[in-house]
Amino acid sequence: MAHASTNPTQDITPHTAARYWAATRARDRRADGTFVLAVRSTHIYCRPSCPARRPLRRNVVFYRTGEEAEQNGYRPCLRCRPDEISGPVALVQRAADRLSFSSEERLGLGELARTLGATQSTLRRAFRQVTGLKPRELAEALRLKRFKALLRGGKNITDALYETGYGSSSRVYERSNSQLGMTPATYRKGGQGMQLGYTIAKSALGKVLVAATDRGVTAVYLGDDESKLISELREEYPRAEITAASNSLERWVREVLLRIEGQPPHFELPLDLQATAFQRRVWQELQRIPRGRTRTYSQVARSLGKPKAVRAVARACATNPVSIVVPCHRVIRQDGALAGYRWGLSRKEQLLASERSAT
Ligand SMILES: [Zn+2]
Repeated sequence: MAHASTNPTQDITPHTAARYWAATRARDRRADGTFVLAVRSTHIYCRPSCPARRPLRRNVVFYRTGEEAEQNGYRPCLRCRPDEISGPVALVQRAADRLSFSSEERLGLGELARTLGATQSTLRRAFRQVTGLKPRELAEALRLKRFKALLRGGKNITDALYETGYGSSSRVYERSNSQLGMTPATYRKGGQGMQLGYTIAKSALGKVLVAATDRGVTAVYLGDDESKLISELREEYPRAEITAASNSLERWVREVLLRIEGQPPHFELPLDLQATAFQRRVWQELQRIPRGRTRTYSQVARSLGKPKAVRAVARACATNPVSIVVPCHRVIRQDGALAGYRWGLSRKEQLLASERSAT
């Protein structure tokens, strides 16, 4: 189809281009940073929110990034400066710098906004847009990170707590426990010597099988056919002792069902998984993706410091034994397509939709 407005970039579908055009017409700030529009008649490219007059649709092509537009011969617009870091990103970066050195027990949002020369609502919106977190949540994450760095650097725990502003040590322990709990790879192959109880519940996504040891959840499978789910579990752990165990798992199952509905977790589910060091890192990273948001495989690879490990990341997602709890459904392809899901694409789609509407 050689229509004038056909996008040259292969990975932007007509559907996506239509969405981009709607955002462009609305000068939607939230779209800044997700794509740029390039104007063929002027050879200039802009942010979606550019205040300049809207070009004709047939003169517009979209690119994911400014670099791409420049490679195709476009120059950045002098009004909206699409080649500079967007306002919200810069603001959150400056806020994060301040927060990571703050040792105050409670963060005053008003004070933070004042020191950055922004209003509280701008700051809150920028945080939600860029990180998906509230300022307080980011402050805590940064503090926990600094706390760990101090410990690794040889500080004793009391000094590290004092320096990072944790009022009592119990709070930091609460937080470290919410990390993915995994037993070292001491399991024999096939789950020999393992005692697994499972139960199957009904959910909005069909049947959900939850299997666990007494240490934590080992498997969360989705499907329509109970006997098929059970045989998948037996294939995964051929040497384990597997029995139906409905009552003892009730609390954990309820927690899984809550997450299927897109609701925030009530507590961190303990997990008992067999994993390689790399799988473990990927799964931990997936647990950091906020509810209702998505990341691409390459973004996950980059945040692990292994930008080239995109395929290995995709494999680790595909072999995730505890769907929902390790939210591999939040990882999508670069072009926004959902890519694969062991339990079916329509389930992935449904999960993301309910998370978005419950957020
Ligand atoms: Zn512009």
